[in-house]
Amino acid sequence: MINVSSRRCQATGCLRHPNFGFQGDRRATFCCRHKATGMIDVVSRRCQHPGCVRRPLYAMAGQRAMFCRTHKDPGHTDVVSRRCNFEGGCDRHPSFGWKQGDGKARRCAHHRLEGMESVKVNNRRGSAAAAAAAAAAAAATASTPAQAW
Ligand SMILES: [Zn+2]
Ligand SMILES: [Zn+2]
Ligand SMILES: [Zn+2]
Repeated sequence: MINVSSRRCQATGCLRHPNFGFQGDRRATFCCRHKATGMIDVVSRRCQHPGCVRRPLYAMAGQRAMFCRTHKDPGHTDVVSRRCNFEGGCDRHPSFGWKQGDGKARRCAHHRLEGMESVKVNNRRGSAAAAAAAAAAAAATASTPAQAW
């Protein structure tokens, strides 16, 4: 574990709290004054586009969110939000999913699919097992025309 509270900007003599690091860095090394070119704010939850203060939701898959919807690159995906994945677009929070699958909420109450149940419960434990179950469920439901994921 990193002792976050004791970290400082690595510029000589600077006592500021570091917010900036290189993309992909898990930890910040420099403050906003001393950041190097190309460093991004890896601490604050802000879009990395200069001047943009929106909440970041998009990044390359597997990275932490860095850009808002407006400033995302074409290759970026939404790595934060959990939204109803209704094909027509829906901004509601999902709370329905397949309990016998991965248990993840995928659809709002309006767009829940046949057989979906409320899965709001926190389901962090055993995600590997859940993923396996999801794969099995996906295979099992592959014949259902509505969804293919
Ligand atoms: Zn500094
Ligand atoms: Zn932005
Ligand atoms: Zn919806």
